[in-house]
This record gives sequence, C-alpha cells and structure tokens, in this order.
Amino acid sequence: MDALRCLGGGTAVVEARALLRHVLGCDDSYLITHGEQLLSSGQQEAFEALAVRRRRGEPVAYLTGSREFFGLEFKVTPAVLIPRPETELLVELVLERVPAHSAAGVLDLGTGSGCVAIAIARQRPQARVVAVDAAAEAVALARENAARHGVRNLDIVHGDWFAAVPGQRFEVIAANPPYVAANDPHLAADDLRFEPRPALVAGPDGTECIAVIVDAAREHLNPRGWLLIEHGHDQGARVRALLSAAGFARQMRTWRDLAGIERVSGAQLDPPCR
Ligand code: GLN
Repeated sequence: MDALRCLGGGTAVVEARALLRHVLGCDDSYLITHGEQLLSSGQQEAFEALAVRRRRGEPVAYLTGSREFFGLEFKVTPAVLIPRPETELLVELVLERVPAHSAAGVLDLGTGSGCVAIAIARQRPQARVVAVDAAAEAVALARENAARHGVRNLDIVHGDWFAAVPGQRFEVIAANPPYVAANDPHLAADDLRFEPRPALVAGPDGTECIAVIVDAAREHLNPRGWLLIEHGHDQGARVRALLSAAGFARQMRTWRDLAGIERVSGAQLDPPCR
C-alpha cells in the first residue's frame, strides 16, 4: 500500500498521520521524506486495526497513547482525561504568578496525566509543586510522566482534593476539576464517550467539585495566594459567585481561552489583617 504518499491535509488526514507515526514509530519528518515507502503487511494490519477503532470513535490520543501539551509529550490512557489545548491557559496563569526563580508552593488539584503540574514544574524548577488525584491509576500515570520528563520538584499524591495535603499551604492553587453536568448531551459525543466519567462529571449542576474546592481553598493558601480554576464555557458567572461567597473578592476575574470562551476564573486571597 502506498500509504505514505496519499497523506495530504485535513483532519482525517492529520489523524491518519498520527496513527501511522505510531505504527511506524517515526516522526513527521520521516513520513514526509519517505513518501515512497511501502508498509509491511504487519504494519498495514496494525494501521488498519487502529483506523477501525478510530472509525468507532476511540480518541486518537488513546489509540496512540500520547498527547502533546505545553510543548511536552504525555503518556495518556483511558484512565485519565486527554490533555486539552485550552488547559494551557491554566498553566500560563500559574506561571504569571510564580516568578522564574521563586521557591513558591504550587498545588494542582485533579492532575490526571499530570500535564498541568509537570508543565509548571518544568518551567519553574525551583518551585515546589504538589499534584493530587483521587484515582490511583491517574497518580501512577502522572508519576510515570513526571519521571519521563525528569521532573524532581513535584510530589504526586493520591487523595480527595485537599484531604491529600492536610495542613499544607501554597502560593498558587490550580485546578482542572470535573465540571460537566451529569445530563450534558456532550457526554454522548466524540472523545468524551471514552474518557473517565469521574474526571468529567461533577454532579447535576457541573459546579459541585468547583464549589468544594473554592470553599476549602482559603485554608490552604498563604496570604495573597491565588486560586485559579478551569471551568465550562457557561460557568464563569457561577464560579465568580462561588469565589465571592467564599470571600475571594480580590482581583477576581475570568480569563478567556484562545477560542474566546470563558475558561478559567480566579482570585487572590486577601493580605493578612494588621
Ligand atoms: N473541558 C472538558 C470538556 O468539556 C471537561 C474537562 C473537565 O471536566 N475538567 O470536554
């Protein structure tokens, strides 16, 4: 099969190229420079088996076992959400609040593959980063990804939100919690069908986990510490209301992602009273 030659442009083609790179264990420049190469029958079978699974809806990232995030390659399995480009905003907002050589403490709640915590730990090698996930499989995978990226300033802990870090305080708390409402029709579409429900669905409203985090964050932030939470496209106003109700009025705002969608809300803890 002259498989490499017929690959041009478009989404299906981009995905086919990703599957082909996976089967051949090669990079994109190899595909470009080896357009004449024929696949062996084993490679052809492997590629076609992946294409069949893709046609049934399985996400490319689960088929290839990897996804790029913040310029790093992460191992992903169906035990964790697939890292999303819009979540890079959360990383950028954390980095803006942690100076280059600062030894600040940063907490990442609901780390999944570890992509947010690992990207931060790589960018801020002097910071002390702690990542938490309630799923043991996610913790194991995040540790594997941290090792793959040679990250030493990151602790990955198994537990339920702040219960995993009793008595600890941080300069920045970042969270990408489950925030999809239980009856959201998107759950029956596309990649979401294959992703772990507990990582997506918070409850009937969608903001249940965010509410739990906002309520408890104060006890785990140093004075002037920041809480930054990713949320759904229509949850900005509700998350800001939760932040105000918990006394987080200072510098409260919502940031839009590259698609112009309200994606992260946050606020700073008040300075100590004199
Ligand atoms: N952004 C994801 C989606 O809508 C949800 C991720 C999450 O719940 N943290 O597909």
